[in-house]
Amino acid sequence: MPLKTQKEFISSLRDGRNVYYNGERVSDVTTHPVLSIFVNHWSLLYRAKHDPSVRDIFVTRLDEYGEASAYFRIPRSASDLLARARLIESTTAYCNGQFNIAQAIGTDALFALMSICHEVDGKYGTHYYDNVMMLYDRCVREDLAMAVAQTDVKGDRSKRPHEQDDPDAYVHIVERRSDGIVVRGAKVHTTGTQAVNEIIVLPTRNMLAEDREYAVAFAIPANDKNLKIISRAQASSELGEFDYPMSVRATAQETLTVFDDVFVPRERVFLAGEHEYAGPLARLFALWHRFTAISYKPPIGDQLLGAAALIAEYNGIAGYPHVRSKLVKLIRYVETIRACIRAAALEHRTYPTGIAVPNPVYVYVGKYHLADNFHEAAKTVQDLAGGLAITQPTSRDLENPETARYIEKYLKAKHDVPTRSRLKLLNYIRDLTASTYTGGYNYVLSVHGEGSLEAQTISTYQEYDVERCVRYVKSLLNIE
Ligand SMILES: Cc1cc2nc3c(=O)[nH]c(=O)nc-3n(C[C@H](O)[C@H](O)[C@H](O)COP(=O)(O)OP(=O)(O)OC[C@H]3O[C@@H](n4cnc5c(N)ncnc54)[C@H](O)[C@@H]3O)c2cc1C
Repeated sequence: MPLKTQKEFISSLRDGRNVYYNGERVSDVTTHPVLSIFVNHWSLLYRAKHDPSVRDIFVTRLDEYGEASAYFRIPRSASDLLARARLIESTTAYCNGQFNIAQAIGTDALFALMSICHEVDGKYGTHYYDNVMMLYDRCVREDLAMAVAQTDVKGDRSKRPHEQDDPDAYVHIVERRSDGIVVRGAKVHTTGTQAVNEIIVLPTRNMLAEDREYAVAFAIPANDKNLKIISRAQASSELGEFDYPMSVRATAQETLTVFDDVFVPRERVFLAGEHEYAGPLARLFALWHRFTAISYKPPIGDQLLGAAALIAEYNGIAGYPHVRSKLVKLIRYVETIRACIRAAALEHRTYPTGIAVPNPVYVYVGKYHLADNFHEAAKTVQDLAGGLAITQPTSRDLENPETARYIEKYLKAKHDVPTRSRLKLLNYIRDLTASTYTGGYNYVLSVHGEGSLEAQTISTYQEYDVERCVRYVKSLLNIE
């Protein structure tokens, strides 16, 4: 049965991978004091598949495989897409309110590769589609976790890959052999590389003929000997549960992912020089992954709304008109995202491979909305919480009887709310909206994760039929 247990998943990461953190080589990510926080967070996806309370969401039945992770169901209809969105949303909710894309991002890439490689093979007689399906088959059978390394370090943004001073500013092919290719370069911001089995590498932009060797897509195992995984962790082993209710367990980690002349066997290559397909592949993956983004965000919006309503109650201000209107602002924030998910699924487009692809306009509008308004939503929660979210004494002062009695007495608000509950909620609000670990991380994640604000804008304009509206206005004015 292709369903790993949480324990089996964690063991699969003890494979000699080249991980570095804070200036040191990490021999085992599963026992490292900081990196293991993330490993445990990512492993919750594997626990969910064996948890009877949510199993029906996380596990599906696939013809050739029997029971499998629901992430591997290839969407063929609106209801498949809605089920995928529900799965992604449930994953965030199950994983203590922070996103977990251990299988979402990889399947986003696989679905995009299936469609584009089908087209490339049709034009060039290559066998990339079979290679993608071989990887898909292995991922389903072994229930693998995947990272996707798309964003190149990019050097000077005004220059194309072949124009860069350093030819390695974008990942590229440095050698072609009869049995595969050798690649060099580095990808940046790769989420979760430390705690996955496979890394799928995609081009980040469109390429010209001169950029041919940069038009490359492939997959490699995370323990490839020439792969260097340099980690950044949004966590600390110093964290305590009272002071950091979110970050203590719900965390994310990114890497600078260095390909130091990595050999990729031929059957793991999905694009190697067919430059005109680099852009379409980059964009189709981005579309899938932005659908994932709008699907993982609502539980974070729910937390902002829930925390705002609860602190208003604890502070004795619930029910005041200005508080209600602030809560409604948060409802509008999160439910607009949910509306975009539904519209994107219902108005999907079916590709020649039979895959139902979310509607791009609703995905990009939803992604822009969530990114552009996240800081505002967090500000609303901070507004209702008051300054104590960042100024209260720490849990250590609550443990010291000399200070605890003052804290218990003076930091109480409503008589029927224990001081410690109020302070813990305020810590949660700080952690969610103002700590480096979760709050600060989520600000930047919202803006840049899955592509910058400008990337959403460009994509929306490309996809939208503005001419339709121009024709409409002309017809109203009766002009040619
Ligand atoms: C938390 C987090 C997780 C992420 N996870 C992943 C992941 O798992 N895999 C992955 O591949 N990527 C990942 N990303 C990368 C993400 O997609 C990028 O951060 C995003 O595309 C922006 O790219 P950048 O960070 O290089 O910034 P830049 O591209 O440098 O953008 C900075 C600014 O410059 C502008 N700009 C850039 N280039 C040009 C240009 N040519 N002309 C005009 N303006 C320009 C942009 O619009 C933006 O305003 C992640 C990012 C974050 C923050």
